[in-house]
Amino acid sequence: MTTRKRQPPTSEEKSSSGNTYRELAQSSASIERRLSGEALPRLAELGKVHEVVEATFRFLLHDGRAAVAARASAVIDLPCQWCDQSRQRTLDAEFEALLAEDEAQAQAWSADADEDAPVIVVAGRHFDAAALIEDELLLAVPGRVCDRDVCEFRPDAEYGDGEVPEAPKPLAGLRALLDEVKSEK
Ligand SMILES: [Zn+2]
Repeated sequence: MTTRKRQPPTSEEKSSSGNTYRELAQSSASIERRLSGEALPRLAELGKVHEVVEATFRFLLHDGRAAVAARASAVIDLPCQWCDQSRQRTLDAEFEALLAEDEAQAQAWSADADEDAPVIVVAGRHFDAAALIEDELLLAVPGRVCDRDVCEFRPDAEYGDGEVPEAPKPLAGLRALLDEVKSEK
């Protein structure tokens, strides 16, 4: 069981009078959206999103609960963590989840033993394509940007024979840095 929170929508999106997730689920709506890098600021922080993201959403009711099956892809330039090179990578995300309106609802659904679908707590009641897919696209960012045999700066020599270390995620470096700073105090 996974529960994830979505970022709150921007003020512009808040003012839109779109459909609620519940209404979309009740009408089994299918929606396609193209999003620019500006709509996905946390993704754009990692590298230039230079092709629009295509996303499709299929809404449905699952035992009376609003649910979505979504798919999105983005083309992005990602910097290698070992050399200065940037590589163009396609991120693909595909997920199905129940859409809870708040933490309490998510917990109630998660506690349901018959329910094994992941639960997303949506930030607002109205459909927000970027908020639904950005986390999933971030999860699709590869840990290794350079192809293994291509990056000459990959620090293979530091590791013993046969031991292949897991490549750090771009954000993991920041985490380690924070831990270091903490431990120095
Ligand atoms: Zn590299």
